[in-house]
Amino acid sequence: AYTDIMAPVAVAIAVSGSAGLSHASGLPDTVFRHDGQITKRPVRALTLSALAPRPDELLWDIGAGSGSISLEWCLAGGRAIAVEARTERIANIQANARAFGLEPRMEIVEGQAPDALEGLPAPDAVFIGGGGSAALLDYVWDTLSPGTRIVANSVTLETETLLATWYGQKGGDLLRIELASAAPLGTMSGWVPVRPIVQWSVTR
Ligand code: SAH
Repeated sequence: AYTDIMAPVAVAIAVSGSAGLSHASGLPDTVFRHDGQITKRPVRALTLSALAPRPDELLWDIGAGSGSISLEWCLAGGRAIAVEARTERIANIQANARAFGLEPRMEIVEGQAPDALEGLPAPDAVFIGGGGSAALLDYVWDTLSPGTRIVANSVTLETETLLATWYGQKGGDLLRIELASAAPLGTMSGWVPVRPIVQWSVTR
């Protein structure tokens, strides 16, 4: 619909002053309302690439934070259920969905996964961006139909170990993402590394 298309453009003009919103995933972090807990732009682009959205597919975005993954999935034509435990972040997800005109495509669930996932409609893809425990992976694996795509990101050693174990058992792809940005260092510039992320992608 007209509003679906024009609202993100309004967001882009308002926030970045640009001529419109890029059609590629990995939008600037600044177009989303967030509290610092957001999948940063380059990692978000890699994550959307791994999730591989197709029109009208349904995503479960577990540990949705600001909802940025759900929003970019929906901008690619999908529908998303954003599951988030913290109330103040639910408000950010709602505000972002509204600003992008994507409310009709998004459902927002406040609660702790895996319990909060009970009874949700079956997804085509699942992103685990938070709460990546053994209990959550067990639940997701047992509940989902074969063919469902799963992408999980970890920033802690504990979750990374869990993902490496599941990769060993189920296969898929394990990707370690190590990035650095240039920043001022005295009178010159130097690399500031970001915490490495380990990403496991698998088809159930
Ligand atoms: N992908 C998000 C950032 C995720 S940060 C974005 O781009 O904005 C991880 C989030 O997972 C946090 O907001 C945290 O509150 C949430 N979380 C952690 N454990 C959870 C659980 N068991 N169920 C639901 N949300 C959880």
